[in-house]
Amino acid sequence: MEKYIKVKEILLAKKEAVASRIRARLEAETECGGDEADKVRLDAENKLADSLSAKDIDMVLKIDRCLGKIAVNSYGTCEECEEDIAVKRLEANPFAILCISCASAEEMVRT
Ligand SMILES: [Zn+2]
Repeated sequence: MEKYIKVKEILLAKKEAVASRIRARLEAETECGGDEADKVRLDAENKLADSLSAKDIDMVLKIDRCLGKIAVNSYGTCEECEEDIAVKRLEANPFAILCISCASAEEMVRT
């Protein structure tokens, strides 16, 4: 468990960054009133914000999934060969689901 302490920190920091981005956007949205012209412009901006939010929400879900896996000790296992994924690799990419040899094998197939 302890070996993923740094990965956990990275995930929590990422989550905090996304959360503050969402908060900042919500605050900006509630602050502005304005007339019709502003509203039209805002609608366009909101559409962009919506797609960004979807991405952010997706990110939070991904982070939570990783944190949940760490909590139940099922994190860091390669989905292909069920070997442990190197901690260094997870620290570089906490969302990695394949070990380095499976990942490079997959890349070879793809390219
Ligand atoms: Zn593997």
